[in-house]
Amino acid sequence: MENTLIASSGRIDDLEHIDTHHAVQVADRVWWVGHRQEDDIFQCHVYLIEQGDQSVLLDPGSVLTFRHTLRKIEEIIPLSHIRYFVCHHQDPDITGALPLIDQIVSRDDAVLVTHWRTQMLVKHYGFRLPFWLVEEHEWKLPLADRTLDFVFTPYAHFPGAICTFDPVSQVLFSSDLFGGLTSEFSLVAKDEQYFEAMRPFHEHYMPSRDILGYALQAIERRPIRIIAPQHGSIIPEALVRFMIDKLKTLDCGLYLIARGDTDIRRLSQLNRMLRDITHTMLIYRDFQDIASNLLEIAQRILPATLLEFYARLDEQTVLHLSPESRYRGIEIEPPAAVARILDLDHKQWNELNVTGATAFILADDSDDAPTLRLPLFSPAQGTVQAVAIIHLTEWVTSNDELRQVIEQMSVPLQVAVEREVIYRQLDMERQRIYERSIRDPLTGLFTRIYMQEVVQRLCDIQDRSPGNRVAVLMLDIDHFKSVNDTYGHNQGDVVLRRVAAEILRSTRGSDIPMRLGGEEFAIFVVGDAVAYAAQFAERLRMQVAAIRFEAPMTEQVVTVSIGVATRQPPETLLDLMQHADTALYAAKNSGRNQVCVASDSTVQRQMV
Ligand code: GH3
Ligand code: MG
Ligand code: MG
Repeated sequence: MENTLIASSGRIDDLEHIDTHHAVQVADRVWWVGHRQEDDIFQCHVYLIEQGDQSVLLDPGSVLTFRHTLRKIEEIIPLSHIRYFVCHHQDPDITGALPLIDQIVSRDDAVLVTHWRTQMLVKHYGFRLPFWLVEEHEWKLPLADRTLDFVFTPYAHFPGAICTFDPVSQVLFSSDLFGGLTSEFSLVAKDEQYFEAMRPFHEHYMPSRDILGYALQAIERRPIRIIAPQHGSIIPEALVRFMIDKLKTLDCGLYLIARGDTDIRRLSQLNRMLRDITHTMLIYRDFQDIASNLLEIAQRILPATLLEFYARLDEQTVLHLSPESRYRGIEIEPPAAVARILDLDHKQWNELNVTGATAFILADDSDDAPTLRLPLFSPAQGTVQAVAIIHLTEWVTSNDELRQVIEQMSVPLQVAVEREVIYRQLDMERQRIYERSIRDPLTGLFTRIYMQEVVQRLCDIQDRSPGNRVAVLMLDIDHFKSVNDTYGHNQGDVVLRRVAAEILRSTRGSDIPMRLGGEEFAIFVVGDAVAYAAQFAERLRMQVAAIRFEAPMTEQVVTVSIGVATRQPPETLLDLMQHADTALYAAKNSGRNQVCVASDSTVQRQMV
């Protein structure tokens, strides 16, 4: 069998037979002439485009492997047939072998094909070989049966980086792009898993996603069938689209967070965690969702079981947000371990946290269950305003990775918790305002606002099940103006309070008494009580008339007129009030200190 990547079906699917000790055919007249290095996750591939005595060698490679490359080239053609030596960029694993080549090659028309920026560096080897610059040849190299097409991919990963596309074989010689770090040598990428080998390499070698995106855009305009990168594995047709799309979404420029760390695969994993944390904070608004997502992220590096928070609401109050209450803050006395940390400033925290620079404590009490306590500093106050607690199944030791993740978590967590506390404060303020708005401060009775809400609901209930009847008694103090005029406004208030107290005393739990305004009151009664509304009104009328006041009003008798109306569904609340008011007006007109009942459209004098 031929040593080729192309099965008779035209697909790359039978990899077992490939013998990497010899040149491997990648496509028609395209050969891999690299060398498999044992124990090297960073394999460097060299490719040959056979064109008789006008052949092309792409990325000639390193001194370490050149003798193998030379042997494989000579399996296909004599080295002297190579006229073009393409260097996609200037790295030693591409250009290291050039001084050797420069010595062996004797033909006069041999050239180094590259970009001028590469030339600026590579010329310092002092070659005899002349340069052939792509930009001076409209980025095209015409050969006997094909014209190579150079693609400019600047800063991926060198300012003068280029790739080569062969439109006949449809192979893209992608240089560092699509390169992967493979722990096991595989000349061809077997499946989508190869992306994971590309990921850390690109995250760290490509300066930014924009730059990578620019290169990918330039590349994907070509009808690529096979991608032949300089490192890692050759990407067969079935995976080309997938790999391009996946690379588009990748984070790049991770060398910025790597600091001195050299394990780029671990850094890649760390980066994904940091990214997921940011993503969680951006996407989720609900604190419960945020908390459960962050717990899931923490579980990737910690034996974490539970995440809970204590957050200062005000000087006296601390909220506890935990899964038990579905992260709805519950007011609580914080445990001592939390109280110790709350309100510390940065200096005090550093003194307390003897472990030094760490942003958290692995619980300091020996009898405690294993937890990790994370102070959340409010940037405004500069003090700890909340504490996150991660419960663990066992003790862990602090390390750089843990620190980095925790540090990354603490700022967004602080924001999320602060936001939650603000929501809670707004809730409480709203509740206070509502309470104020539904209670009349003079009499303590409900107000009109409350009526709109609650009585409207009673009407809705009656509309659904007519057995739940609703009636209203509307009261107005008779000649109240003269009380004010005779005894003054303060005594008028006393009368209002006494009448309100009488109303409260005579009503039952299911009745809804309210002050409509001025010296007008209403009592809503529901259910069976509706049948006795008129009797109730009459009793109340007599009780008010029986009130005895203190000096200076010892002689004063206060009476009320009452209109009673029973709701006939589906009449509106407004209509009901109107009917009661009409009945009240009738009571006033009939001499006051009376009860009148509205029956449907007519109003009758109540006969008791
Ligand atoms: P009628 O028998 O026709 O109801 O006569 P009235 O004098 O009771 O009725 P009118 O509506 O003319 O007067 C109501 C008075 O109640 C006028 C207003 O100054 C007084 N008033 C309204 N709210 C208060 C209050 O909160 N405190 C006091 N002291 N007086 C109030
Ligand atoms: Mg009035
Ligand atoms: Mg009145």
